[in-house]
Amino acid sequence: MPIVELHAPAGHRLLINTRREATSLMLNDDLTLNYDREGRLLSAWMDGRNYRRSLDNRVIEKQEGPRRGLSYRVRRELPADQARDFLARAYALTQQQRAVLDDPGMRVLNTASPADCDAARAALDRILEYDLARLERDRATFHIIYKPISILPPDQYLALVLQATEGCSYNQCAFCSFYRDRKFRVKSVGEFKQHIRDVRAFFGGALGLRKTIFLADANALVIPRDQLLPIFDAIHADFEIHPRDLDPDALKTWEAARPIHFEGIYSFIDAFTSRRKTASEFAELAARGLRRVYIGLESGDAQLLNFLGKPNAPNEVVQLVDHLKAGGVAVGVIILAGAGGDKYAAQHTRHTIDIINAMPLDHNDLIYFSELVDYPGSPYSALAQQEHIRPLAISEIEHQMVEMRAGFAFQHWTHAPRISYYDIREFIY
Ligand code: SF4
Repeated sequence: MPIVELHAPAGHRLLINTRREATSLMLNDDLTLNYDREGRLLSAWMDGRNYRRSLDNRVIEKQEGPRRGLSYRVRRELPADQARDFLARAYALTQQQRAVLDDPGMRVLNTASPADCDAARAALDRILEYDLARLERDRATFHIIYKPISILPPDQYLALVLQATEGCSYNQCAFCSFYRDRKFRVKSVGEFKQHIRDVRAFFGGALGLRKTIFLADANALVIPRDQLLPIFDAIHADFEIHPRDLDPDALKTWEAARPIHFEGIYSFIDAFTSRRKTASEFAELAARGLRRVYIGLESGDAQLLNFLGKPNAPNEVVQLVDHLKAGGVAVGVIILAGAGGDKYAAQHTRHTIDIINAMPLDHNDLIYFSELVDYPGSPYSALAQQEHIRPLAISEIEHQMVEMRAGFAFQHWTHAPRISYYDIREFIY
């Protein structure tokens, strides 16, 4: 992993970090460009702002807001012309820094060897094989291989997504617009194997950046067992997945022998179609690499769930979590903060605390607070208007999350689940 630190003749300090999975370029603390192994821009820090690029060339710009915290952060997706300008500028800046490496006046500031400088040159040359036209061809290929990847949990943003299904088998929750653009469909095993081949070819050398596999779309585990097991087997045939229960030394040896490997398979699951799945069915999937699933609890309040159009009772989520944990699969439970506005706020808080406290959660699990994002024209908006519901202000949503956290009572605080925030407005793939 050579890091080359240079002093350029123009007085700049340039750092080039060529890792196995990515290349980063930092100039004077005010510019950072991160590329994958193929040379596609991943993210940037430029002009005091953060940028992330999706594999289909969308760019999200993020800035800290008037107060600290996710809720206040200012974010926007750049219009297509601005996204193109941004990408062109990032690659032009990389071209300029590549020239520094060949400048006779440059000085190496750290212990980097001539071979390390050659590795940095090769990495930047690979990046510069990309231009806007090639990125555009990538975008077109991406859209042939994938239906839009609408959302992932934050700890899975860098997953390798494999779409075993398309869409959501329910697709009727009032607040959710993720899969309204497509009909639910399960791929045949043959089709899924071809999808894997296409995905591998698309990612190429950039596969090493991906640490987990995410089985998409919304509730891929709804697939009947006899079809689901061959899908997991197909993943294993093509990818190296961490075996369970290796001690840290054995795991290191295992990883060293497999430069491209994955920590496990992850997926969303819903509580209404999957509540009858047994612990032994989940154990079969755990044995095939299923490590964690993400469940949209939304609320522990039955009335609010009904209002949101969720067709399950809160305790069915508890039952599902019981079965998953007994089968050896961890969970990520998602709470919809601010859902139901002022009308449901008190009961949402109270009953969500009760339901979370009824779950056998431990340090392998996650709890996410996801702020309700109401899109104009959504079924949720219309329902909220009908019931004269006032949306909660950001400060009230924060207060609701603080109250819920204060009410959680895990059996062993030293083994408590991690609690984090999930902002769907920041997601691009
Ligand atoms: S919230 Fe989940 S179950 Fe409901 S429509 Fe959206 S993806 Fe489907």
